[in-house]
Amino acid sequence: MKLYLYNTASRQKEEFIPNDPQNVGMYVCGPTVYDYAHIGNARPVVIFDILARLLRDKYGADCVNYVRNITDVEDKIIDAAEKNGESIEALTTRTTAAFHEDMGALGALPPDREPRATLHIDGMIEMITTLINKGHAYEAEGHVLFDVQSMPDYGKLSGRNRDDMIAGARVEVAPYKKDPADFVLWKPSPGDMVGWESPWGKGRPGWHIECSVMSKAELGDTFDIHGGGRDLIFPHHENEVAQSCCANGEGTFAKYWVHNGFLTVEGEKMSKSLGNFRTVRELLAEAPGEALRLNMLTAHYRQPLDWTSDGVKQSLTNVDRLYTALQNLQDVESDTSQVAEDVRSALLDDLNTPKALTAIYAIASEANKATDKVERARLKGLLLSAGEQLGLLTMTPQEWFQNAKGEDGPSETEIEELIAERAQAKQNKDFARSDEIRDNLKAVGVLLEDGPSGTTWKRI
Ligand code: AMP
Ligand code: ZN
Repeated sequence: MKLYLYNTASRQKEEFIPNDPQNVGMYVCGPTVYDYAHIGNARPVVIFDILARLLRDKYGADCVNYVRNITDVEDKIIDAAEKNGESIEALTTRTTAAFHEDMGALGALPPDREPRATLHIDGMIEMITTLINKGHAYEAEGHVLFDVQSMPDYGKLSGRNRDDMIAGARVEVAPYKKDPADFVLWKPSPGDMVGWESPWGKGRPGWHIECSVMSKAELGDTFDIHGGGRDLIFPHHENEVAQSCCANGEGTFAKYWVHNGFLTVEGEKMSKSLGNFRTVRELLAEAPGEALRLNMLTAHYRQPLDWTSDGVKQSLTNVDRLYTALQNLQDVESDTSQVAEDVRSALLDDLNTPKALTAIYAIASEANKATDKVERARLKGLLLSAGEQLGLLTMTPQEWFQNAKGEDGPSETEIEELIAERAQAKQNKDFARSDEIRDNLKAVGVLLEDGPSGTTWKRI
């Protein structure tokens, strides 16, 4: 089973061959923790969670090191803390916890390592010093800048020429730069602004150096996969390559560059001013995490994904379908030796999640039709294997239908009491009352199902 990934560096799909199959390393740029994550931020988290699952499955969980950092020092954080009137630490602790909660609700497993930038400042000072000593960086007015002219290959990852770079987003022109494309490695922190002592005075790191240093600390100079959203290709990843290759040696750093496409909301770029800015937290209040996760997987990761409320509704129906199939298999033990090969081969082909979803739906349909016990046990095994690869079907059908779909309507205790009352009414042959209870519950979104072992219920 070969894994193919589209490599931004070579601009083609390539077979993934790790440097050392016993030690596969993946670094994904994590969040800047200053506010709740929006649904666009969740896309790389879910996509690289799928890839991490696939790598763990292929190479063994102990042989994969998936690193996703936390950027806990950055100007946006400083500004937000000031605006909220809270300390930087209080803000980053609170938003990091919210990020973990939200991503957990989307079924993303924690990465193996999660370095925080503020715990790697010494490493940043060390790498910047190396870059200065090697002639790739210079100090100017309390700043240290990377000298892009010192690196002939600068621009190779993003395929940009010099003019594109200067015109490109986020390149700041400043009088102390030798070249407008030079970027900041270290900047001064005046007054009581958060900062650390350094050979260049009190200051703080630029964003790009953070990832070069955290990836080196966790994975070494050379590792297999580096990922993030495609907006990071330039300047962030281009600059990481420049820093790491110039400090650690040519030919080092990541071998495969994997980037997800952008997410729009109802056809438009997400922005606060358009009022279509959706946090994961808000969306979780509207639909269960598994429905949001499935919706995220409906587009191939390199394609744009348009997030719509109709799409979420459809995804919720599809998760219902999967749990219904699982519920119908409740009377058989799962054959755990089964592997959903169709799902796996779709994912091995550059994470083709739409194809993988088609494959899991096909298993569910087949399961609904099957009558033979052994066959049904096999299909249950396949369904659960497919679910594991995709991070779906993480709960029992009962949990899904009773709890995950929200607690609108009567509580579990109220429903159980009404079911008991209905059983009593039936025993007393008071069918009018028993039908009334069933109809009243249906009207508030609770469906009763009478089976051989009593009455079960689900929210619809
Ligand atoms: P940030 O906190 O802005 O650095 O973003 C964290 C991650 O989310 C990065 O990998 C970004 O590329 C990604 N990202 C941000 N916005 C979107 C979006 N609208 N669609 C897809 N990915 C996004
Ligand atoms: Zn990064």
